[in-house]
Amino acid sequence: MKKKLHFNSATIHGGQEHDKAYGAVMPPIYQTSTYAQSTPGGHKGFEYSRTHNPTRLALERSLASIESGKYGFAFSSGLAAIDAVLKLLRPGDEIISTNDLYGGSYRLFRKIFEDYGLKFQFISMNNLDNFNSVINKKTKLIWIETPTNPMMNIIDIKAIVSLVKGEDILVAVDNTFASSYIQQPLTLGADIVMHSATKYLAGHSDVILGALILNNKELAERIGFIQNASGAICGPMDSFLTLRGIKTLHVRMQRHCENAATIANYLNKNSKIEKVYWPGFENHPNHLVAKTQMKDFGGMLSFVTKGADYNAAIKIVERLKIFTLAESLGGVESLAGHPASMTHASIPKEEREKSGLVDALIRLSVGIEDVRDLINDLEQAIG
Ligand SMILES: *Cc1c(COP(=O)(O)O)cnc(C)c1O
Repeated sequence: MKKKLHFNSATIHGGQEHDKAYGAVMPPIYQTSTYAQSTPGGHKGFEYSRTHNPTRLALERSLASIESGKYGFAFSSGLAAIDAVLKLLRPGDEIISTNDLYGGSYRLFRKIFEDYGLKFQFISMNNLDNFNSVINKKTKLIWIETPTNPMMNIIDIKAIVSLVKGEDILVAVDNTFASSYIQQPLTLGADIVMHSATKYLAGHSDVILGALILNNKELAERIGFIQNASGAICGPMDSFLTLRGIKTLHVRMQRHCENAATIANYLNKNSKIEKVYWPGFENHPNHLVAKTQMKDFGGMLSFVTKGADYNAAIKIVERLKIFTLAESLGGVESLAGHPASMTHASIPKEEREKSGLVDALIRLSVGIEDVRDLINDLEQAIG
């Protein structure tokens, strides 16, 4: 298969070979730590499973294929993947990151890597002028997350890539919220794509797994070295589950997007709702960027109910029956969250409210159920 596959075929066949031993159509779960050698060094390409494992390799090839990249790496979690990216840097290096950031990434940056001499600057990337005051000779990495969580801001990846063109600065994109179906940052010029594959890629809320995809050979060799040297790899079973999830990514994403669009429009017309955050609305501040850089608007949205406070929002999420109240996102089942008391509770209220994250905000990860049942559930919970 030399010709580049279309996305909806790459999810199923991309980078895959049939099993050479028995012709198994699905990649077997090679639950082994080591491999027999006929003479010292005489092996079939696999020596020890921290370094390489055939099931993980099948997943890594699939990841590269669906992200239009050359090299894929799978890790034990999304955070382990981010950890590997930061290990490319040296004390004194500076990182510019989106301020509306996944809480776990923020914690890893501030509580672990700051102590190793890295310096992080957090800015709103909606306005490129904000880079002027923070970018300097020590800047080595720009960390982008788009759409942002939970305010659904859209950041222009291509514009940021152009801004640092020719400089010794890497651009990395956390592509978890969009998934490879909706957005392909490498094709927009980014150097590194990261996924919490725990979410849309695996898609069934049954595995924790992280991924990095790159195009540059030298950079990929360094990431491969870090993956093996630090050892935060995923096991064969988790690799298998993620690979299986990826095979239906395109059909799941189509339904996630369709259902989220229907719900966003339903909420927008509901007189009890104050505001809906979803990049598909024409009056969303970054709608045009979303339209050009994304294939669709995704399965995530947030909303605020009129007159609701902290407790009223909690009551609404507690009344939901089909939407499960839980952390995480991207599974086939719908989830609801209350950021002010859950994912973003550690951020002070005044800080939260600066970006619009009020106490009444509710975040939905819209699943692939029949959308009529989801709307009925919201209707009864909002009251
Ligand atoms: C969940 C998540 C992560 C962390 O991934 P884990 O697999 O939980 O380690 C990073 N970024 C985003 C946007 C996430 O949603």
